[in-house]
Order: sequence, then structure tokens, then C-alpha cells
Amino acid sequence: MSADIAARFIFRIKQLLFWIGYRLDQWLPLRLCVAVRNRFLPWCKPVLDVVELHIADHCNLNCTGCLHFAPLVSKWFAKADDVAHDLAALRGKFRYIRHVTLLGGEPLLNVDYPAIVAAVKNVSPESLITIVTNGLMFNGKAFEKFLLVCKEFGVRVKWTVYPPLAKRREEIVRAFKSAGVSMFTVDVDDFYVKMRPAGGNAKSAFRFCRKTTYCPYLRDGRIYTCAQAYHIRDYINAYEKDIGDKTEMCAAAGLNVHDQSLDGWRIAEYLMTPCVTCRFCSDKPRFIPWSNGAKNAKEWIAQ
Ligand code: SF4
Ligand code: SF4
Repeated sequence: MSADIAARFIFRIKQLLFWIGYRLDQWLPLRLCVAVRNRFLPWCKPVLDVVELHIADHCNLNCTGCLHFAPLVSKWFAKADDVAHDLAALRGKFRYIRHVTLLGGEPLLNVDYPAIVAAVKNVSPESLITIVTNGLMFNGKAFEKFLLVCKEFGVRVKWTVYPPLAKRREEIVRAFKSAGVSMFTVDVDDFYVKMRPAGGNAKSAFRFCRKTTYCPYLRDGRIYTCAQAYHIRDYINAYEKDIGDKTEMCAAAGLNVHDQSLDGWRIAEYLMTPCVTCRFCSDKPRFIPWSNGAKNAKEWIAQ
């Protein structure tokens, strides 16, 4: 079995274990399920499965219905010092953090990404760092530098292959292989959109969400259940007039990771509880074929 097939097999097994964990989360009382997720060691600091961070908010590929609202934001880049400061505070509340995922927007638009990767490695050396990219920057010297940085820091790359780059798949995968950088691809031909400005049942939306993904998001010193819980403010700012004055859509407040009185268990519980933004997500998403967005408010709406 080649190393690539073995890596895919292990990834699938991990996905299955994750899925079993989510099912348990739905059936067991909250405190117990948090304990189960953290290996029955409630007297210790818990483990955090994953935390996501944007290192750029904007993107060079404006997908219709982008779940992180990248087409609606102005340029924003994370700074290595801020990432180190916030991640160190979060890390201190957990035994360790398994995965740190750097994404956006398009993370490679941030020319300081090597310093950010180094900061993450320094603060949380046990974490597997994954960079999620659309691959549009996989060209020339910039690509060579990216591969070197990934190799140096043991970064894994998740390349989301959108239709505009699909024809370059073999050439790009070959470059990763010859550089000895771990990567996997996820093909995206369609998207699902799931916003419902009128509001609905937060619990069922959250349950639907956690069946498929666990994506805590760290931003400006606070942790959120997901990136949408923070970035919905970008949608509200862009389309206040279209969604109407009566909407109660709002971003979650998150938890301050620098608060000394807050422990990892409280954070773990918070991340398994619907937040105020969940009410505005649907448990019946609408699937749309991938396209470049026209930036219409309705692109994001499920029903
Ligand atoms: S590539 Fe990703 S971040 Fe960029 S617009 Fe598309 S979905 Fe959003
Ligand atoms: S706001 Fe809630 S339901 Fe919506 S994506 Fe985030 S965690 Fe899921």
C-alpha cells in the first residue's frame, strides 16, 4: 500500500471516529458527552480537537454562497504576534490542541503566513497544522516557497479543488509529492447554503451542523462555535437593507480566551451548545452548483 493510500485510509478512519463522536454528542447529556469526547478524564484539562483561524478574510475566488463570507469583506490579514498571543491563551486551557487549521478567505494572500505558521508551531508544538487553500497561488516562486515552508514546519495542506483549477490537479499533486509535503484534495463542484434570516430552531440547526463538522473558530481573542458565528456580521453589514429592519440576525459574543476564570471544560461545553447565530442557520441546506458569486443577498439563503 502506498503512503498516499495509507494516509487516505487513516483520514477516513478518523472521519468515522469523528462521526461516531458527533452521534454520541446528540444522545448523551452534555457534560457526559464532553467527557466522552475527552477520553473520560474530566479531572484533567480537556483536549480540543481543532481550532480554526483566518489568516486572511478576503479571497481571490469569490464563490457563490461562501460560508465564510469572503466575497463581502475588505482586505484583512492576521498578524503573527496576535495569533501567538491568542493561541497561547487558548492552548493553556487544554491538555493540547490536536489540529490548528489556518484558512480564510485565501490564507496564502497573507505574505506573512510563514511567520504565522512558525508562531503556531512555537505556541502549540503538538498540533497538526493544516492550511486550507483554493490553490490559485500555486504558481512559480510563490508555490516553491510555500512547499518549503510546509516541509519545514510539517504543515499538511488541504487543497479545495474548485472547477477553475481542476485541470492542473496532476501537475500540482506531483509537485507536493516531490517536495515531500503531506496534502489531500477535496473536490467542490457544488456548495450548500443554509442561512435563514427569519430565524428557526437553533438546536436542530446546530445538531445538523455538528453531525458533519466541528469547527471552533478563534478570532480577536475570543472563541466561537464556528466562523459563521463571528462572520455573519459581514453579511449583516453588507445586506442590512435587503434582509430588512426587523431581522434579529446577530453575531455570537464568543468567549474571551484571556479570561483567567474560564477553564477548558467551560469552553468545551460552549462549543457543544447552540449559539445565538445558530437560529439563523437552516437544518435543510440548499445545494447550488459552484460558481463565482454575483454578490446577491439571496445567494446565501437556504429557503
Ligand atoms: S475559495 Fe473558499 S474562502 Fe474563497 S470564496 Fe471560495 S469558499 Fe470562500
Ligand atoms: S452558527 Fe451554529 S448552526 Fe450555523 S454554522 Fe455555526 S455552529 Fe452551525
